[in-house]
Amino acid sequence: MLDWSDTKPDAAKASLPAILTNTAPADATGLGEIDRKGGRVSVDEKRMINCRADVNQLLPLKYKWAWEKYLAGCNNHWMPTEVSMQADIALWKSKDGLTEDERRMLKRNLGFFAASESLVANNIVLAIYRHLTNPECRQYLLRQAFEEAIHTHTFQYIVESLGLDEGELFNMYREVPSITDKAAWALKHTQSIEDPDFRTGTPENDQALLRDLITFYAIFEGMWFYTGFAQILSLGRRNKMVGIAEQYQYILRDESIHLNFGIDVINQIKIENPHLWTRAFQDEVRGMIRDAAELEAAYGRDTMPRGFLGLNAVLCEQYMHFIANRRCAQLGLTPVFAETENPFPWMSEAMDLKKEKNFFETRVIEYQNGGALSWE
Ligand code: MN
Ligand code: FE
Repeated sequence: MLDWSDTKPDAAKASLPAILTNTAPADATGLGEIDRKGGRVSVDEKRMINCRADVNQLLPLKYKWAWEKYLAGCNNHWMPTEVSMQADIALWKSKDGLTEDERRMLKRNLGFFAASESLVANNIVLAIYRHLTNPECRQYLLRQAFEEAIHTHTFQYIVESLGLDEGELFNMYREVPSITDKAAWALKHTQSIEDPDFRTGTPENDQALLRDLITFYAIFEGMWFYTGFAQILSLGRRNKMVGIAEQYQYILRDESIHLNFGIDVINQIKIENPHLWTRAFQDEVRGMIRDAAELEAAYGRDTMPRGFLGLNAVLCEQYMHFIANRRCAQLGLTPVFAETENPFPWMSEAMDLKKEKNFFETRVIEYQNGGALSWE
């Protein structure tokens, strides 16, 4: 086994295959000393984690899927302030435009997302970025980090437009137990990674990084966000809070790329490091997905104690089981729950990749024209 944490490059080089001996000393950050005699980087030397090739050299590209997602993200650029909030403001301020149940669901949904976007952004910048030693993946992470800033901006814009209590909304992740439970569960998996002394390069630490990637990409953005999208898009389908619903549709489009990027990252790390993906670790990941679905079911019951037309806590739990099984399949795991139908087929349309591609193209034109999404 190579010890990638070895700080003496000469000693490490002695045991390296010929193709790697040209590279600079191990420098995961890209901010280390410059090796003036270092050889040139070839595609074969690039690795997702524990890489010795220069992380400051984007080209030649190795992981085209990462670069393509970076381009797709750029093509989808949007700003929350492009969306008119007039109809939402009128409905929010009218006495009988929304039921008390709808107001409770909407506020808690906004509260969940408002802090979650920051948690996801901070996890990228402070935890995973320095451990993914590949420049094209980092290029995507930089784009994603900005998109998370735009999403956080969306909640600032909504709070300001509707005149919501900002303290109440932004503190929900600390004060509303069904939201706190999810945030705390996710943070547990980021805490070890963001320790400045944490280094990848041992099976235990590489698995800790995988745990964090699975938590934030497959579970946080890939499961929990989807109930949240379903709640708001279902309001939009009933012609309520259409401005927020339009913003959520843009966020959903961004998040579906975040999710798919994360799945590709995890699967590529698995391909390059098959020893990490043990039977025991797979069982652990399936347990994480099961726990996460249970936390989401609790959030569903809390935000929708009575339910609305076509949407309630029972359907959301079924939806979570459907989504959880999909994530398992994407990660190459056996399903966690009994096979179930998608209770929200209209959400599946929004997630469908083929349709999404057309959606991207439409959006690019619409963005140039300053147009808006239509609701159908
Ligand atoms: Mn986001
Ligand atoms: Fe995201």
